Amino acid sequence: MIQIVQQLLFVAAIGLTGYLVTKRARFIYRNIQLGKKDIEVQGDKNKRLANMFRLAFGQQKMFDRPVVGIMHFAVYAGFLLINIEVLEIVIDGLTGQHRIFSNVIPSGVYHFLGSFFEVMALLVTVSCFIFLIRRNALRIPRFHMDEMKGWPYRDANYILYAEIILMTMLFSMNATDAVLQTLGNEHYPPVGTFAVSQFFVPIFAGLSETALVAIERTAWWVHILGIFAFAVYVTYSKHLHIFLAFPNTFFAKMEPKGQMSNMDSVTNEVKIMLGMPVDNTDAGESDEMPTFGAKDVQDLSWRNVMNAYSCTECGRCTSQCPANITGKKLSPRKVMMDVRDRAEEIGKNIDANGGTFQDDGKSLYGDFISKEELMACTSCNACAEACPINIDPLGIILDMRRYVAMEESGTPQEWNMVFQNIENNQAPWAFAASDRFKWGEELRTQEIKKTKTEEQDA
Ligand code: SF4
Ligand code: SF4
Repeated sequence: MIQIVQQLLFVAAIGLTGYLVTKRARFIYRNIQLGKKDIEVQGDKNKRLANMFRLAFGQQKMFDRPVVGIMHFAVYAGFLLINIEVLEIVIDGLTGQHRIFSNVIPSGVYHFLGSFFEVMALLVTVSCFIFLIRRNALRIPRFHMDEMKGWPYRDANYILYAEIILMTMLFSMNATDAVLQTLGNEHYPPVGTFAVSQFFVPIFAGLSETALVAIERTAWWVHILGIFAFAVYVTYSKHLHIFLAFPNTFFAKMEPKGQMSNMDSVTNEVKIMLGMPVDNTDAGESDEMPTFGAKDVQDLSWRNVMNAYSCTECGRCTSQCPANITGKKLSPRKVMMDVRDRAEEIGKNIDANGGTFQDDGKSLYGDFISKEELMACTSCNACAEACPINIDPLGIILDMRRYVAMEESGTPQEWNMVFQNIENNQAPWAFAASDRFKWGEELRTQEIKKTKTEEQDA
């Protein structure tokens, strides 16, 4: 009877987890689709796949800082590999069996895998402790900037605590299991002890069988329910990058970093002005007033929004940003966090209003990202270069700055003069194109004079 109740509870837990994760995944996918769909995903598929394997799977850029890179890789690999062990737990939970794979896998292999997972779990635990120390005791500056106050700071810690608890439960579960095997309890097949949990066995060795079963079952339930809760929590957390890093690196911008995209409408206008053929024959003939740049999330591209949901909040971009380093208000990490927060807000608005966005009087520009932040950017691309998963904060900044310049005419006076010069003189300087070579005239005159003098002297 107790066994059936446990199985029913397990089915309910897995069903609830599946429902919550699916609901949230649909919400995020719909929010990413809020962005414009008119970007071209360039570069061939094989290059994109290689990029994804290198950056998301191989975490290549994380190894720019080798020690942290190794620890991060341990946590990541542990997360992936321990899921194989979770598969057994799920099947056990559904069928009411215990260590079901031990019946189908040769005992030596089963023992090796059990030990291997425990070694990975130990590496995860140690790495999580070190990450907690870096964040909370050593207080690495990039983890304590303004945008990291409150929830982002707590989020990073919660996930580390959760991983330590999950791994501790795994060791406790396996250690008590090992003692129960020696007592001949028939529910626990004789798989022996594993590499790490064997050192915990003495802690439980003197306990009664009832107490051991209670501890083993509690650890088992906390471990698996913790994993289910983790799966739901991750979709609300910066740790969503565990999954989104893959599509994010696959669809990442492949063009050279310094290459800026032109606005078709402006390009066509210039071409018309210069009497050149335009790509789009409808250019300039549409009744709709074109809008320039991005004021809100809907004006960005879907890739920009996916970038925002993929951001790990690691702050590597901000720590390399010359504007931030020199004390300006700009932080590319905050830009990404703001885009995500605004996308969430719009998504909730749409859900609350039967699928249609009702104007809330707010926008990404102004309410989340200020003009001061946008204007501080030097367009150097150091942020994009530093990002371990190819996020492009500059693309968002440029689009928003285009809005400020072209829709609001809100750029500084010095910039306006440059724009005016480009428009009138096709150069940023205040001289007509016809005067462009005047600077050389004097030199030429001097040269002629010099030659004449030399000829006379001769
Ligand atoms: S491109 Fe802008 S945001 Fe990025 S690092 Fe350079 S100045 Fe900072
Ligand atoms: S944009 Fe990239 S580098 Fe910057 S915080 Fe996000 S993940 Fe880290």
